[in-house]
Amino acid sequence: MGCAVDSSSALYKQHRLQVLTERFSELQDLPQEVFAVDPTNAHQSPNTEVLYRCRKCRRALFRSSSILSHMEGSGPTAFAHKRITESVHLRGSGPDKCTSYFIEPVQWMESALLGVTEGQLLCPKCTSKLGSFSWWGEQCSCGHWVTPAFQIHKSRVDEARTLSVGNFHTTKT
Ligand SMILES: [Zn+2]
Ligand SMILES: [Zn+2]
Repeated sequence: MGCAVDSSSALYKQHRLQVLTERFSELQDLPQEVFAVDPTNAHQSPNTEVLYRCRKCRRALFRSSSILSHMEGSGPTAFAHKRITESVHLRGSGPDKCTSYFIEPVQWMESALLGVTEGQLLCPKCTSKLGSFSWWGEQCSCGHWVTPAFQIHKSRVDEARTLSVGNFHTTKT
């Protein structure tokens, strides 16, 4: 009581996924709560969220709330064993350095994730390649190591803003 876990925070979601990878032998049966609701199944459409669609077939893939953001090229998961070359210079840390979105798993991925450690993420409708996943983690273009990683290339999806007034996230210091 009084110490409820904010289950919607990206940090919590990421932690939950990391706990999962430690029990990888059990991953034949993924708990349903790790999957974000497929946006095509959602009844209500919160109008403050950005929806991301397949660039090819316009199939709704995930919402902005599913994006697990990270500090670029830094943070505790930027391991030394995967040294990044010169790109880590923190010059103007705009989000553009990351060429991929790292998101939580969404329901349409489930069949692709079961029983395998890594693979491709394909559009559930047109099967064009959207990105890749690995329970062991993948490196973002900014140098940050994300574990586990469900990586969607930004060039493969389109943002569909449902709100004309931008609701931009400003980084608080
Ligand atoms: Zn990044
Ligand atoms: Zn598609």
